[in-house]
Amino acid sequence: MPCEIKQKERVGVINPIFTCQPCGAQYASIGIKDCIAIVHGGQGCVMFVRLLFAQHFKDNFDIASSSVHEDAAVFGAVHRVEEAVDVLLMRYPHVKVIPVITTCSTEVIGDDIDGVVRKLNKGLLKEKYAGREVHLIPIHTPSFKGSMVSGYDVAVKDFVSAFAKKDQPNGKINLITGWANPGDVTALKHLLMEMSVDATVLFEIESFDSPLMPDGNAVSHGSTTVEDLAGTANALGTIALNRYEGGLAAKYLESKFNVPAIIGPAPIGIRNTDTFLWNLKTMTGKPIPESLVRERGIAIDALTDLTHMFFADKRVAIYGNADLAIGLAEFCLDLEMKPVLLLLGDDNPAYQNDPRIKGLKGKVDFDMQIIWNADLWELESRINNKEIELDLILGHSKGRFTSIDNKIPMLRVGFPVYDRAGYYRHPVVGYAGAIWLAEEMANVLFTDMEYKKNKEWLLNVW
Ligand code: SF4
Repeated sequence: MPCEIKQKERVGVINPIFTCQPCGAQYASIGIKDCIAIVHGGQGCVMFVRLLFAQHFKDNFDIASSSVHEDAAVFGAVHRVEEAVDVLLMRYPHVKVIPVITTCSTEVIGDDIDGVVRKLNKGLLKEKYAGREVHLIPIHTPSFKGSMVSGYDVAVKDFVSAFAKKDQPNGKINLITGWANPGDVTALKHLLMEMSVDATVLFEIESFDSPLMPDGNAVSHGSTTVEDLAGTANALGTIALNRYEGGLAAKYLESKFNVPAIIGPAPIGIRNTDTFLWNLKTMTGKPIPESLVRERGIAIDALTDLTHMFFADKRVAIYGNADLAIGLAEFCLDLEMKPVLLLLGDDNPAYQNDPRIKGLKGKVDFDMQIIWNADLWELESRINNKEIELDLILGHSKGRFTSIDNKIPMLRVGFPVYDRAGYYRHPVVGYAGAIWLAEEMANVLFTDMEYKKNKEWLLNVW
């Protein structure tokens, strides 16, 4: 069969592609203004996640830990959540939103965080913090199921369901970006502005690319407000760009408040960006302006310069978040490349029925494997065993040694990227993202041609 999807056959994981569910919930929480999450678990569940965020964005983010110790395994540790909420509110007078994010240990112990939130709402918040706006949100993200991707999805839905409130229609679109970069949000806002569409961009992380001001202040926090979240119930519709990172919240708003939902595809490449603009047009009735037709034309021109001459038949392996990986594979096909291996790093059986994967199956006329519940060993072992030959790898920095050791050029895409400068600033979505992706793929291939003296003379005459 030219294109098959199957689960990894080994037990265990070697070099995981993802980290665990609480990481995704923490990522969603740092997209909210005046919000500091408490992760209910051991300190490492925060420390390593914060390190990933800091490595990727080269900035610092506030996330707290209830810092559970051995005694909790026997006696439980909800009292540490009570203490943590109090300390956080004392130390940070601006904080309004405190998600309480569970981890593997506290879910196994069976700590009742919903109960402790009810208790705090009736007690501490009424007594010590009367008159202060504080929202405590329990978020269940046991790490023995799903991944950081499903953790993000669950948290986005929990935030939306905690705040969404029916009121007068606001004429806006809810845009759930999924696990994006600041550069993506800038590109999406540009498309919305050109379309004259008023949108609430949810879990707004554009300001993660924060300035260092003359007074020494650098502000890195999300800008989605409690009011933005409340207004999601009154929107014209919701567009969740990613099926697995925001799709749950879009479905919730549709079923609870009759807010129509369009879920995916991530606007990666020309075709998917066209679909995104078409969805905006359908939802709002606003026409697609000439300016965007021109941007599209510029992108197609840039791709045409590269496609047949440099990309045709190049064999690519892609790993990372499913929505990103599938979008990149579709884009590679449009560029005449052959995405021969797709690794989706968690155990979500829904990938098997994803319509875009079915679309790939219908299109591909070469051998292509899509592995779910995958790890990076799936890539390394195929290279070591000479089962596949690759011209390019697309994925985050955790796979850098596979590229270095095997001298296979690699473009860093996804999260985390910490071994290249400023990548979070560049979009992969929209027409601008299509240009950036194609040109960066070309540039890593060009560098490789020069290094290996492989037809590098072509670059003299191109
Ligand atoms: S796997 Fe469990 S202990 Fe490890 S970081 Fe995730 S939640 Fe914390």
